[in-house]
Amino acid sequence: MKSIAVDMDMVLADFVGKLRVSLKERFNITVATDNLQIRNLQPEIAKEVFMMINEPDYFRDLKLLDPNAVAVLKELSEHYEIYIATAAMDVPGSFKAKYEWLLEHFPFLDPQRFIFCGNKKVVKTDFLIDDNVRQLESFTGEGILYSQPNNIQETRFKRVHNWKEIRELFLPVKA
Ligand SMILES: [Mg+2]
Repeated sequence: MKSIAVDMDMVLADFVGKLRVSLKERFNITVATDNLQIRNLQPEIAKEVFMMINEPDYFRDLKLLDPNAVAVLKELSEHYEIYIATAAMDVPGSFKAKYEWLLEHFPFLDPQRFIFCGNKKVVKTDFLIDDNVRQLESFTGEGILYSQPNNIQETRFKRVHNWKEIRELFLPVKA
């Protein structure tokens, strides 16, 4: 059985969707979804935003980015070993919320295959589905780029736009 590692934020979970709402509510800042990067905010605000996303529950109620992810991952898990690989070290306060979020939305996945990491070069699966180009660059298997506004220029990786396309890419399993 081949193995697939799946990123969380902006592949499974709509982090930017919640960030946009909380920037408006807590800081009265309106940012277009297209280019919402914390590092592009003013330094003092970026610091406070970073503290906000480190709050223990911040990641607990994120919406599914694409509701089809649930059915597709379930089906894929019958043909592939599915790992979840999240660069949670970027936001150490998020660990428990991310873990509980995965159990709630993907109860069929094996928590022994949840990887809370920093650099994903240590993830030795056959495939990695991620929206972060840097992670795909250091990954040593085949990287699949989940399309997001901040990676639209990238051409080195196979690109997918939603979970229906991921299904088409991986199923049926080729002999
Ligand atoms: Mg991501």
